[in-house]
Amino acid sequence: MLLENKVAIITGAASQRGIGRATAACFAQHGARVVVLDLDPEAAQASALSCGEGHLGLAADVTDPLSIRRAVDQILAHYGRIDVLVNNAGITQPVKTLEIGLSDYNRILDVNLRGTLLMSQAVIPTMQQQQSGSIICLSSVSAQRGGGIFGGPHYSAAKAGVLGLTKAMAREFGPDQIRINALTPGLIQTDITGGLLQDERRHAIIDGIPLGRLGTASDVASAALFLASDLSGYLTGITLDVNGGMLIH
Ligand code: NAD
Repeated sequence: MLLENKVAIITGAASQRGIGRATAACFAQHGARVVVLDLDPEAAQASALSCGEGHLGLAADVTDPLSIRRAVDQILAHYGRIDVLVNNAGITQPVKTLEIGLSDYNRILDVNLRGTLLMSQAVIPTMQQQQSGSIICLSSVSAQRGGGIFGGPHYSAAKAGVLGLTKAMAREFGPDQIRINALTPGLIQTDITGGLLQDERRHAIIDGIPLGRLGTASDVASAALFLASDLSGYLTGITLDVNGGMLIH
């Protein structure tokens, strides 16, 4: 049990085959009290229930400070502390630079990058009082290799922004014993591509992966478990690749 009695918030954890839901299930198995945040309250509750007894599912839009405040207040009223935040909520879009409209740019940046900042701002004061905490931010291999997997340049930019924000926050809040690290998954089999990734492209991607397969949500969940737990107690500001060797650098 690596997270016994820890309170762990995971954003965007309602999606059936998603990384967030797999992370919620994995953390619950390791003794955490999990809080699933997602846009739809019923889907969030169903996801929390699927983790077993004693977990919480709440509606929250990570782009909206008021919605986040409401959720965090409820979490503190219920559990009284916050030990782990996984900034997982994210959206993507497969377009090229000249096709990026302003509203596309805004929504991709808002969910992936602004959401990471706003959620972190909402939990850090509690972690400062506790003088402990672990925040895990979902970036992407797209940030490191300049896209070319599925998401467009605005997605790569947002996820590169997540890396910069993670490192800067790690430096700032290390003295409060808050560890802040990033995960950079390769192509993981979830519903984020909305069925738009063609088989031919998928096979071409697999050909470039030394481990010879796409990632699973539980591959990423296991890495998040490591960063959430005391096993990674002396790690902050790191970028942990979960990509099967797709990018070795
Ligand atoms: P997914 O589409 O399965 O799940 C994303 C979840 O985020 C959904 O439940 C959705 O409802 C939620 N969400 C969207 N906007 C939200 C908002 N404003 N507020 C709260 N929740 C919101 O996606 P996934 O593949 O599990 O991706 C999870 C994270 O991992 C994302 O940040 C994604 O960018 C990142 N990632 C995924 C891959 C991949 O190949 N799947 C690779 C690298 C990084």
